Amino acid sequence: MPVPKRKLSRKRRDQRSANKGLEPKSLAACQTCQAPNMPHQVCRECGYYKGTKVLRTKVDRMYTRGQAREALAASRGAAMAPKAPAESTGAGEGAAE
Ligand SMILES: [Zn+2]
Repeated sequence: MPVPKRKLSRKRRDQRSANKGLEPKSLAACQTCQAPNMPHQVCRECGYYKGTKVLRTKVDRMYTRGQAREALAASRGAAMAPKAPAESTGAGEGAAE
């Protein structure tokens, strides 16, 4: 009769049953954007929880950065345009360096 060569360590024995309790995640649809997310947790897609904005998402940050960039470009454009005849050389060199 075959006999195990050596004793199974507690770790190896317990690892065998470690996956028996696993169940597939149950996902709910976000109330705001309908994206699948974990129930009772903030939606990672839109940052809303129960209809309230609680999280700044990556898209929000990209959007605000874009707006800041546009505002900066507009202010630079506005600053450059009227002063162009008088300070064109000085401003151009300052911006380049
Ligand atoms: Zn959402």
